[in-house]
Amino acid sequence: MKIGVSYFGNRILKHVKEDLQNIVEHSCNYVVHTFSENDLKYYKETMQDIIKVSHNLGLEVYIDPWGVGGVFGGEAFSNFLLENPDVWQVTSNGTAVPIACLNNEKFKEFLKGWISVAVDLGSDVIFWDEPHLYINKLMEDKLNQWACLCEICKQKFKQKFNYEMPTEFSQDIVKFREESIVNFLTEMSAFAHQKGIKNAVCLLPIENPIFGVKNWDKVCGIETIDIFGTDPYWISFEQKAALMGFGGKVLKSLEVGKFVGYFSQKTQDLCKKYGKEGQIWIQSFKIPEGREQELTIAIDTAYNVGIRNIAAWGYDGCKSMSSIRSDRPDIVWEILGKAFRKILRECF
Ligand SMILES: [Zn+2]
Repeated sequence: MKIGVSYFGNRILKHVKEDLQNIVEHSCNYVVHTFSENDLKYYKETMQDIIKVSHNLGLEVYIDPWGVGGVFGGEAFSNFLLENPDVWQVTSNGTAVPIACLNNEKFKEFLKGWISVAVDLGSDVIFWDEPHLYINKLMEDKLNQWACLCEICKQKFKQKFNYEMPTEFSQDIVKFREESIVNFLTEMSAFAHQKGIKNAVCLLPIENPIFGVKNWDKVCGIETIDIFGTDPYWISFEQKAALMGFGGKVLKSLEVGKFVGYFSQKTQDLCKKYGKEGQIWIQSFKIPEGREQELTIAIDTAYNVGIRNIAAWGYDGCKSMSSIRSDRPDIVWEILGKAFRKILRECF
């Protein structure tokens, strides 16, 4: 049984050590360290020390390209995007948006540089968190603002389909966008594998092709992906329930057991089919007061469908980051520890 938690917001080694000990006491056997562009530029050696301390405490280390190029999840800014406006994605309205195009060679080279450093630091697994194309943050107008129609994408589209890339959303666009994500992950994970590190991918729990990947088989089936999963954050996605494409149904609300259960089962089935390890992420940020026990339901639900790699985002109910902190982070962290201990006991 693998149990993990994400850790970020602190680069002071003596405090990191204390927190990591606390993570071990909460039954975790791995930690996900965020490694943003800021870390890459200013904290390389510090991160090496942090990874060493993690290993010394018996924790496996996942490393996360937190917000790199705006392509992955994370509360981090991208300097690469500031310096390279030519790599930005272009929406169907012709607007350049600050997120790197997955078909852009310059971005891919930059990310390979990030991978090389991540491997040199001594990490065990790269955690490719929520790789995505531009998502209209409002998720309101279904036919508005999707990407990418940059010159590179337009050329690639024409080569594949033999006609100019349309600005209207269509089945060919769905295919092209999915292929862009799959080709990108295939190339990056193969590069990482060659360097001797494992790959984990987490897709957003969205099946609507305008906002996410509809055909998860294509991602789970990538040869060099070892761990595949999703992050069904039932509270975060609550307001957008109707747009999630939940098994083809429109939901009015996201009840924890049903939502986590649906995506855990989907992950488990796909992983069985492609011989991968299934991973489910549990929301432990922005938990409203009085809903803390839902974490136990989420963890039990994932465990009961057979998931044996469960992680929470993030440490200490995200107390240190006010924009995503839970109302009662101490209670969230305590409940999480109890729920983790329980499944660990059941497993042996
Ligand atoms: Zn593009």
